[in-house]
Amino acid sequence: MIENTTTTEDVQAVDDVRATELSGKKERVLHTRVPAVLERELRRFADGLRVPVSNLVRTILEDAVKAADVATENVEGKLKRAAEQLEHERERFGERLRRRASKEALGGVFAFQAVRLARPAHCARCERDLAAGEDAFLGLTNPAPEPVTRVFVCAPCLPKPDPKQDPKQDPKSVTS
Ligand SMILES: [Zn+2]
Repeated sequence: MIENTTTTEDVQAVDDVRATELSGKKERVLHTRVPAVLERELRRFADGLRVPVSNLVRTILEDAVKAADVATENVEGKLKRAAEQLEHERERFGERLRRRASKEALGGVFAFQAVRLARPAHCARCERDLAAGEDAFLGLTNPAPEPVTRVFVCAPCLPKPDPKQDPKQDPKSVTS
């Protein structure tokens, strides 16, 4: 059976958008519908930046919410307007999204490995730019985040042992 759709499919569900509330840490899942053409643009843009669509949408929404006229515009309006600016702000968004992605990936790191950078990077924690040739510490995650985000931190940002939890010497342990 062929569906008789004469009009273009103008709306389509997009990925669940996890909207971070700017005021707090609480995260909500926001279901929204956006025009198919906008969804394609968002996906293309996210693919180009190698970040999840949800990250991209969240960043756009945060920007839009920070903008002055937030009262009257709905979510779709915000996304539409933001998408129009994507081409012009591709670089800025890309950098912000990469930093956001690595900051989030930092939570999944189970070890840091000393490396010497061959390419410029940035510290996922303090966001300091790290130059090629600089010593840094690669965060190891398991499983690797998708799309792959490599996490580096600079030496001052390495986690340090908590002095309060300094392990006491076990008197029963014998090393002979
Ligand atoms: Zn740092």
